[in-house]
Amino acid sequence: MRSPTHPFDARCAISDILCAVRNTLSARTLFAIALACLFVNVCAASAQQAPPPSLASPGLVIVLDPAHGGTDTGARGETSVEKDVVLQIARTVRTELERQGYRVVMTRNDDSYVSYDDRAAVANAHPEAVFISLHVSSTGTSGTARVYYHQLAAPIPPAPGTTAANAKSQAPPATGLTVWEEAQRPYSDASHRLADLIQSGLAQVFSGSPVTASGAAVRGLRSVAAPAVAIEVSSVSVSSADSLIATAAPLANAIAQAVGAFRQTSSSGAR
Ligand SMILES: [Zn+2]
Repeated sequence: MRSPTHPFDARCAISDILCAVRNTLSARTLFAIALACLFVNVCAASAQQAPPPSLASPGLVIVLDPAHGGTDTGARGETSVEKDVVLQIARTVRTELERQGYRVVMTRNDDSYVSYDDRAAVANAHPEAVFISLHVSSTGTSGTARVYYHQLAAPIPPAPGTTAANAKSQAPPATGLTVWEEAQRPYSDASHRLADLIQSGLAQVFSGSPVTASGAAVRGLRSVAAPAVAIEVSSVSVSSADSLIATAAPLANAIAQAVGAFRQTSSSGAR
């Protein structure tokens, strides 16, 4: 049924059928034009708001892990508590990394207790992630920073007299699933390389820091299925937490540059 106020009525003089077809086509045409205009406007707006070019990869997520939290205070000094200091550092590092174009998620953003497995799960949920755990040491030369990668336990040697054939027959069947405690193993070399890159950058801004990273049994990295490192700033014994929190900006820059370099070497086949 036509309405006397229909905008296309005046142009319909042949028949109701032709009029209906014409009205429908016109409405569809206008709708298509409107959609096209909207699309062009959205694209233009997106182009204007595009972040500055950076080494960040579109799929890469940097998982920042402020260690400890809740009942787990970490190291305690007279004026500083590790769980609080690392959270403040992480928030600043996040802001700076995002400003440089990186996508960042945090394992906690308040004073809550998060288990090791839940922290690892944040990284493991992303197909392309790097995991960076932030700590403040209880001792050590103030103003220095150390980077650690997870040192894997040596494989258990086979029992005397075990042959390759019967060792294979005694092994559990392959399921294709990653054992939670072994999740870091395939990323061992990548984690070591990322840790060295970050440590090298930190050595330039925190004098007295080592120039290469250290391997250690870091429980918080063991279940992460991604390149993973722990950074430890020294120390909670400083007279004011401000000096620790001030390390966030240079930390962020060192992380950003190292992750960029890491991505480049990884994409060129150095993985
Ligand atoms: Zn710690």
